[in-house]
Amino acid sequence: MLDALRQISRDVETAPSFEYALGIIVARVCLILGTEVCSIYIFDKVSGELKLIENEGFHRSAIGTVSLAPGEGVVGLVAERGEPLNIENVSEHPRYRHFSAIGEEPFSAFLGVPVTHNRRVLGVITVQQREDRRFREDEEAFLTTLAAQLAIVVARADATGRVSAILNADYVPTDVRYEGIAGAPGIAIGTAVVIGPSANLDHVPNKETDEVAAELTSFDRAIDRVRADIEETDRSLSEHLPAQERALFSAYLHMLDDSAIAGEVREEIRLGNWAQGALRTVIARHVSKLQLVENPYLRERVTDVRELGQRVLAYLQDIHRDKFYFPEQVILIGEEVTASMVSDVPANQLKGIVSLRGSSNSHTAILARALNVPAVMGVSEFPVYEFENQIVVVDGFYGELVGNPTTQVMDHYHELIAEEAEFVKELEPIKDQPSETLDGHRLNLWVNIGLVGEITRSLDRGAEGIGLFRTEIPFASRDRFPTEEEQRVIYREHLEAFNPRPVTMRTLDIGGDKALPYFPIDEDNPFLGWRGIRVTLDHPEIFLVQVRAMIKASLGLESDLRIMLPMVTDRREVAEAKTLILRAYREVREENVAAKLPQIGAMIEVPAVIHQARLIARQVDFLAVGSNDLTQYMLAVDRNNPRVANLYQEMHPAVLHALRELAKAAHAEQKGIGICGELAGTPEGAILCVAMGYDVLSMNAANLPKVKWVIRNVSLRDCRRILARVRRMDDAEEILDFIRDQLIGAGLERAIPHHETPSVFL
Ligand code: PEP
Ligand code: MG
Repeated sequence: MLDALRQISRDVETAPSFEYALGIIVARVCLILGTEVCSIYIFDKVSGELKLIENEGFHRSAIGTVSLAPGEGVVGLVAERGEPLNIENVSEHPRYRHFSAIGEEPFSAFLGVPVTHNRRVLGVITVQQREDRRFREDEEAFLTTLAAQLAIVVARADATGRVSAILNADYVPTDVRYEGIAGAPGIAIGTAVVIGPSANLDHVPNKETDEVAAELTSFDRAIDRVRADIEETDRSLSEHLPAQERALFSAYLHMLDDSAIAGEVREEIRLGNWAQGALRTVIARHVSKLQLVENPYLRERVTDVRELGQRVLAYLQDIHRDKFYFPEQVILIGEEVTASMVSDVPANQLKGIVSLRGSSNSHTAILARALNVPAVMGVSEFPVYEFENQIVVVDGFYGELVGNPTTQVMDHYHELIAEEAEFVKELEPIKDQPSETLDGHRLNLWVNIGLVGEITRSLDRGAEGIGLFRTEIPFASRDRFPTEEEQRVIYREHLEAFNPRPVTMRTLDIGGDKALPYFPIDEDNPFLGWRGIRVTLDHPEIFLVQVRAMIKASLGLESDLRIMLPMVTDRREVAEAKTLILRAYREVREENVAAKLPQIGAMIEVPAVIHQARLIARQVDFLAVGSNDLTQYMLAVDRNNPRVANLYQEMHPAVLHALRELAKAAHAEQKGIGICGELAGTPEGAILCVAMGYDVLSMNAANLPKVKWVIRNVSLRDCRRILARVRRMDDAEEILDFIRDQLIGAGLERAIPHHETPSVFL
């Protein structure tokens, strides 16, 4: 049965439509269990009834016509109880209900299993047989397993309104909400442009040609157009991104040279293959060679080679989207939106980004934040190809999308966009005012940064320092580790721009969801694996080069350079890292670079450290809480998994308790403590952190003015009073609601990004 289940699951996954998938399921169940009938009933949201949506064994006309009120019949009983029901002679059951239209008289054995998703019964799957018998236990287990798989398929179709559309002829789903992960803040409404490699190299056949010259000409034309596209993209991005982050484009251009892929394709064409076939052959050859090599960096190039092949093929097939016809307001949507796809859209027309894959730490999300474009990542249930040219709403504050919005909902979002823009404008003047509460408590509002392009925006928003420079970001846009000098230049740019303000540079934090293309880490459980300081302590050569570059970059500047260690788990790691930092410092001094000794800090992201915080604080100059990771590890909830997103609660009482303990521990050792997770950039989180005594709140530049505005309009006394109340609460939602009420009471509700209740969508 395992093989059968696997096969069904594969076929359902690749089924072209929801209806097709249901058809596969009922047909296979009949075949495998040898039953005469298999039926799927689903709750219709419109009527509230349980309706027959697919069946094998009854008259086809029964589909859509048989419906049961909640609890009606044995099928209704299965849904009501939420448990399987296995009955030998169903017609004798007190809840049996007879439908003459479907001709079920002769069936006697009945097995029904609820289709349950996220604790909700969505429907029932049943099998029936003429024979007088009870279904065996293993048959029951088979159907239960299948029902769990079916639940995912139904839930997906339900979310898109497909189920209602099948069950009700006139139903057009509107205001359909999809949940993902907040990638970049803001709201946008625009036209979906679904992007993906439209040409499919795998489907190109070999064809002999006598017209070698003509094939060569069209190939040359395609190459010229791809080359022009890449150069144009590179040019258009040069304003927004520095050269080192555009290195990928030169690598592409090089591959198009005659000495590389293009030359080999020409050779193939000369041998008589048509251009498309020749291209496929050459790309496939390179891909399989690269897949075999041991060097992980070279193996990673497979994606680039394939993407380039797709681009050339698209022109050969003349199906390339003319990029000058992008709509005015583009919401760029794709299974995996890449940085190069983002750069294909003219910057002034790009309003939002939606990626089915990826996380808040993906390069695309980081790029979106730098470009100030709202983004939603990881919307795995989104039927991407159905949305081409449709209007969609992107809510980057809460990581949601609204498909096919009604005028009412669109007007509502337009209003929110206008309010937000007005508020941002109003906040401009406070950029030069201190971050100080009404009763004179001063604290530091710093920024989290990653791309050089973010420096100006951060300073424009009044950043008083950098609290977290994610140095892995410049590492990620290259095809090898940057040299010491290359790093020094990047770090210097930040330090100079912020001089004399402090700059906190985190040492390379890779692993988990942060991958370098040339240094793949393949693990079953990457978040509990080789990440952050664990990697760099195992590679002192990488660590030392980075620290030397940081120290050299700080030469002659007033700015305090603060070096911060990610993912620290115990004292030994801090001691080892400190030894390496001091060694790097000595080496720099020996090269006659008279730079200052940097401050050293430890990030608190691993729960174990909460209980050793004083010990760690004694070893360093400062602590910084990475509340994103700390929350995910404390609650055992993957921060990037939409399926458990509702369990990821930064305001969980246990997390808040830990944050308070950490602040107390740092201060008991007379050390400063900051927080640089997303929590610090929310008004609600900021209020609690202020009350707990955090010295530094570090956040995305976009959130900074709002947080500053809130801080300038509350008193430390109020914050402490709110914290005291919150400490008596035992539920994250209650805490959040309470703080929001307090903000509203203080006239500060504008700082809270709206979140639509489902009632707006009715
Ligand atoms: C954190 O974990 O809170 C943090 C700031 O680091 P990152 O989000 O880069 O993992
Ligand atoms: Mg982290």
